[in-house]
Amino acid sequence: EGKRAGRGGHRFFHAEMDDRLRERTALENDLRKAIADNVIIPYFQPVTELSDGKITGFEALARWPHPTRGMISPEVFVPIAEDLGLIDQICSSILRASCTVARDWPKPMTLSVNISPMQLKDPWLSTQILAILTETGFPPNRLIVEVTENAIIEDLDKAREVFQSLQNVGVRIALDDFGKGYSSLYHLRQLNFDHLKIDGSFVHAMNSPESAKIVSAVAGLGKSLGMPVTAEGVETTGEADRLRALGCEQAQGFLFGRPLDAVETAALLRGEANNVIRIDRSA
Ligand code: C2E
Ligand code: MG
Ligand code: MG
Ligand code: MG
Repeated sequence: EGKRAGRGGHRFFHAEMDDRLRERTALENDLRKAIADNVIIPYFQPVTELSDGKITGFEALARWPHPTRGMISPEVFVPIAEDLGLIDQICSSILRASCTVARDWPKPMTLSVNISPMQLKDPWLSTQILAILTETGFPPNRLIVEVTENAIIEDLDKAREVFQSLQNVGVRIALDDFGKGYSSLYHLRQLNFDHLKIDGSFVHAMNSPESAKIVSAVAGLGKSLGMPVTAEGVETTGEADRLRALGCEQAQGFLFGRPLDAVETAALLRGEANNVIRIDRSA
């Protein structure tokens, strides 16, 4: 097809590249400004105990309300921030904002935050996190740091050090998206995690016997290593029932609640937003 398009095709291709580059540069500039202006905010998704349907905590998920493009997903801006070397700034600001919000929740709940594996290279990461805990007064033993595993963790010694200094004060570490990255088992053996989160792709595919077996094996692995297992992306009661039967302790997903802003989350915890939270376990 490239040949048929000939010269004109190439020119068109270049024009398209230029457009994409311009688009990317514009987004980068907007992102720099958004970070500087502190407009990236956390939404909170409930983490639910599968045994009784009770909410035990929330995961903070970054959201970028863009002035003209609407709400931009972290799937889009986190990789850009990583490229620009600005991901630690997003992490700090999400952590600070979510600790401030979570501190005032009417019930003692856990708070999970995401960090990029790239940040594990930063010798100041644990100091930074501990400083924000002190500054906001959020109890360290209610914080769970999720390491999203989309790359091999390069410096394992450094990562171990970061984990240890956080765990020393009671912060827990979760391996996020377990099963999605090729290096999961390697990381599990090399690093000391407190929680496992099974990637949503396995949960959605659970009607295939293979995926069900993987979920069951991961639940067993978590059990034998003493790590509670959380399933992500649970959308149906059927999925929740199967996960419970397979030995998963906790779940997150649209079935239990979509990510909410701070005000909606507080309302949900006060039991005011019954339409959002009531999980009819008899259904
Ligand atoms: P994650 O940590 O694995 O978060 C789960 C993602 O699944 C979230 O997407 C959530 O909104 C979505 N989700 C939850 N329940 C369901 C469901 O039932 N069905 C489906 N289809 N999706 C569901 P989100 O918020 O777009 O975040 C995407 C990823 O971006 C996160 O994956 C995490 O890796 C990353 N991320 C989010 N916030 C931050 C942050 O503050 N810092 C860093 N470094 N990464 C972040
Ligand atoms: Mg996560
Ligand atoms: Mg995940
Ligand atoms: Mg994910």
